[in-house]
Amino acid sequence: MSSPRQSLGAALWRLSDLVRADEGRRSFRAKAYRRAVWSLDDVAPDLTDSPEMMLAVPGIGPGVLKLIDEFRSKGEIALLERLDALYPQDVARLRRLPRMTPALLRSLKTELGVDQAVDLIVAAESGGVETMKGVGPATAERWARILELAPGPRAIPAFQAAALAEAFERHLAHHLGGATWVTGSVRVLDEWVETIDIVAETSDPARAEQFLSETSVARYLGRLEGDRARLETHDGVGLRVHVTNPGRAGARLVETTGPSDHAAALLAGVEDDNLTELDIYALSGRVWIPPPARGLPEATASGVVRLAEVRGDLHVHTDRSPDGRMSLVEVLAAGVDRGYEYVLITDHTSGLRFGGLDPQALRRQRADIDSVRSRFPDLLVLQGAELNVDRDGGLDVDEEGLALLDMAVAGVHSHFDLDRAEQTARVLTAMRHPKVRVLAHPTGRRIGIRSAIEVDLEAVFATAVEHGVALEVNGHRDRLDLSAPLATAAVAAGAVLAANSDAHRVGEMGNVANSVATMQKAGVGPVSVINTLPVDRFRDWISGSVTVSG
Ligand SMILES: [Zn+2]
Ligand SMILES: [Zn+2]
Repeated sequence: MSSPRQSLGAALWRLSDLVRADEGRRSFRAKAYRRAVWSLDDVAPDLTDSPEMMLAVPGIGPGVLKLIDEFRSKGEIALLERLDALYPQDVARLRRLPRMTPALLRSLKTELGVDQAVDLIVAAESGGVETMKGVGPATAERWARILELAPGPRAIPAFQAAALAEAFERHLAHHLGGATWVTGSVRVLDEWVETIDIVAETSDPARAEQFLSETSVARYLGRLEGDRARLETHDGVGLRVHVTNPGRAGARLVETTGPSDHAAALLAGVEDDNLTELDIYALSGRVWIPPPARGLPEATASGVVRLAEVRGDLHVHTDRSPDGRMSLVEVLAAGVDRGYEYVLITDHTSGLRFGGLDPQALRRQRADIDSVRSRFPDLLVLQGAELNVDRDGGLDVDEEGLALLDMAVAGVHSHFDLDRAEQTARVLTAMRHPKVRVLAHPTGRRIGIRSAIEVDLEAVFATAVEHGVALEVNGHRDRLDLSAPLATAAVAAGAVLAANSDAHRVGEMGNVANSVATMQKAGVGPVSVINTLPVDRFRDWISGSVTVSG
């Protein structure tokens, strides 16, 4: 039996998804409603707090209070009922599909009866989707292809899972008062996540259990064996909370990170309390293995590249890119903070649909870089660009412009649907240009949003080796491109990789950790990662006097 507050939590969660679909992803109201759900745990379970008390809770403003009043007096929210009838059940997933619009989402529901992703796949196969106004056969097929990549109806892509896990982690730390850790599938950076695992430390497990059974942010499903509480989000993503007394958290982290044989070997004979995960590795006489590599044979796992070995970032945008939000100085300061020896500035160039730098602007940027260089004496600041590969493999900056650059990154940002032969020829042509030393996000996939281009990766790997082009493992959680399996294959073919953040804003420089985690999962060692080179050798690599192979 759920409390009024829990029912309200479910209603506001759903309303947030619906409003976001209806108003677009930047919807202010959608954000406010979602935020309110997290605030409800500070409100009485029967919703009898006075309006003043409600408004005193951060995250509950007058707009939300009105909805709460309506829910309290009528047992429902009219806006929710209205939108619910218009949009598919699985709207949160479907709205992310390329070229999807609110009108198309409504038509899917009202014309084709699509509620779940699987309904759309079936409708696309039977030709129903392409009959909708504004959708051709290519889009219908693309939608189906993207949805088919999800391993299960409840699975969410890594970028969503990480955000949700971090939100739950903060929420539990706040309400239970002890330390918390994200573990399991999110910690090992699985591309798709069906269950979020969190270890939560508490000296009062009964109170923790009580809190979890009453929370409004997720549905409580009961207790599993031991001290695991099982919940699910209001849209069905699994959530396991591993409640532990202080001192056992290290062991719980090892167990929940897995895999089970790795954990069992580590924990055999460990009985002491108050051991961190690092202590447990030390006690068992092993080096600490980064979580994504724990499924690998021990010899490989212990030699994977570490985040601290990355000495520079080769893909960073400044506010000279239309979508960049960091000034040049902010980028360089962040680089120094991260202990980097070099940074390659790679703003978008003018061939991109939404615009970028032309040779004139590149010249101005060079002057900017020269003028701030003295403020960062220990950082080699390189001017590059993220060149756009056009349909035929040409680059969007002329030779004179390219001559200005120290080196460049090139990437595909359009014509994702070319056939394999055309796509491959195009990518290889771009890679053969001597200025191009990094191939950005080589397959173009975005997990749950866009499928990979059709390209002959063996040919890409061979060309990378022949022309000294590093293959990026892009650190955006929705990209992770190359993926771990492809990174393994690239290195096996002799190619080198680049661990890049592709940061556009402050905070995203840390994306490089996701790139490194992907390489760890792939079993890649530092010798195969170009930006682990010390600055002098890196400079030699740019000038072509050193070849590095994985
Ligand atoms: Zn790009
Ligand atoms: Zn970029």
